[in-house]
Amino acid sequence: MRSHYCGGINESHIDQEVTLCGWVHRRRDHGGVIFLDLRDRDGISQVVFDPDTPESFFLAEKVRSEFVIQVTGRVRRRPAGTENNNMPTGQVELLGKQMNILNSAATPPFPLDEHVDVGEDVRLRYRFVDLRRPEMLNRLRFRSRVTSYIRNFLDSNGFMDVETPILTRATPEGARDYLVPSRTHEGSFFALPQSPQLFKQLLMVSGVDRYYQIAKCFRDEDLRADRQPEFTQVDVEASFIDEETLMSLNEDMIRSLFRDVLEVDLPKFPCMPYSEAMHRYGSDKPDLRIPLELVDVGDLVAGVDFKVFAGPANDPKGRVAALRVPRGGGLTRKQIDDYTKYVGIYGARGLAYIKVNDLSKGVEGLQSPIIKFLGDDIALAVIERAAAEDGDIVFFGADRTSVVNEALGALRIKVGHDLNMLTSEWAPLWVVDFPMFEETSDGGLTAIHHPFTAPSCSAAELEASPATALSRAYDMVLNGTELGGGSIRIHDEKMQESVFRTLGIGHEEARAKFGFLLDALKYGCPPHGGLAFGLDRLIMLMTGASSIRDVIAFPKTQSATCLMTQAPGEVDEKQLRELHIRRRKPAAKPGEGSEETSGNM
Ligand code: ASP
Repeated sequence: MRSHYCGGINESHIDQEVTLCGWVHRRRDHGGVIFLDLRDRDGISQVVFDPDTPESFFLAEKVRSEFVIQVTGRVRRRPAGTENNNMPTGQVELLGKQMNILNSAATPPFPLDEHVDVGEDVRLRYRFVDLRRPEMLNRLRFRSRVTSYIRNFLDSNGFMDVETPILTRATPEGARDYLVPSRTHEGSFFALPQSPQLFKQLLMVSGVDRYYQIAKCFRDEDLRADRQPEFTQVDVEASFIDEETLMSLNEDMIRSLFRDVLEVDLPKFPCMPYSEAMHRYGSDKPDLRIPLELVDVGDLVAGVDFKVFAGPANDPKGRVAALRVPRGGGLTRKQIDDYTKYVGIYGARGLAYIKVNDLSKGVEGLQSPIIKFLGDDIALAVIERAAAEDGDIVFFGADRTSVVNEALGALRIKVGHDLNMLTSEWAPLWVVDFPMFEETSDGGLTAIHHPFTAPSCSAAELEASPATALSRAYDMVLNGTELGGGSIRIHDEKMQESVFRTLGIGHEEARAKFGFLLDALKYGCPPHGGLAFGLDRLIMLMTGASSIRDVIAFPKTQSATCLMTQAPGEVDEKQLRELHIRRRKPAAKPGEGSEETSGNM
């Protein structure tokens, strides 16, 4: 139906007859001449109709925004002075001769300008219109370039693209499963994969040797900020390989992707142990563009009467840390109050600070409500430890270690951005030497990566001291975002059982849930390892989009619904009966009627 895309017309086509198809982006009637901006996925061309072609002119008068049309005409140079240098097609226009209206369109729910001033819910409801906007289409196109680049890279490094099941059993990655009831097996459920983890390990047992998949993963989480219940991973696994080779191969992939697709030369990725990242940045995904660090001062304040500091300083699970902000002394009371509220989100109960006005005056040169509680000497010692200078402010966190790390870790990023402190555009790194386990709120243990990750120690050492055992896991971090993570896996049945035991998963339960894995480990499992990248997050970072929803064609809302299709939706009783499901009435709260809701068997 077309000879060219609208965005592809330029001076080389002058005097040629072309046929374009697309949507009417804008229509202007300049008394006697009608201009249509015709848009398709490649761009916009200007089409002019004059009364010399009465039939087409008449049709052009009738079209409205987003009508779908086909136009044939001659490309000509735009009259001098009317060129548009901001458009790739801006030197030329099409003199329309013949036009067909292929379809009409209702008035669009919002104008398709670059800056849509409309709520995201309206955009999501009419996503098919929203995606027509060049900004959105360009992101989809960019995403497609990235996935084909990654496929090429992995293909040429001997990786094989293998699909793994969507209807499967639970793979623990720390979230709730989406369940699918079985019609043919009453009372049984499939789980949608949280990741292809176990299947890719089984492919290593099968001898695939190098696997990848651009895989959909499903996690039923309480959706924090920018998560999606279904998202895409670039999932990679290889055999007979150690962490060094895996990390350098994947670093190469990301660096060459940035170079070739974005023309960005990422620096070589430094490696940082988890303990150092937590200690210096309060985070296992530190944003190294921000030159601010946490410094421990617990030993200095352990003896003061000020319980707020002395308590955590003397508690093995507590931390007292300082965050020096160079030239932060100019922060106003209101700004400090706002930061205090901000750290409150992370559980901090306050935000102590000292402003350094003039160090040559000793403690007189410091300004802070807490000096009287610390005493002059300790206040000065703390300032010296933080290496603060005149004009700085030093913030303090004193609480459980996890609260201090989260609160000061988040504060360093916020202050760093607010005060324009970023030292580079891109700061990648690897975080390594993660602990195997962390404590759950009920005092149990849970795997930090997943329970198939190999520890750096023997099974006996692991069971003797699980809290201090390190794992062979690694995360790739870029600008404070975890781009991907993985590990060398357990390939020995005894070691796998030992990890399950440490996690409180008994033999019976392990057999019931992961019998197939334990069996596979018996039948000649090679040493192997891998990792997975979050594709949506990677595209978001590369395009500078502000939400992952903006780089996914049909995303869900924060509450895991699709506003366009209205999923999840009701199903009829017959379907439920076939699936052996009866809805359960929720227990009525006093004074309330009980409503039907979907529920368990
Ligand atoms: N399956 C892991 C995840 O989804 C990645 C990996 O270990 O390869 O986080």
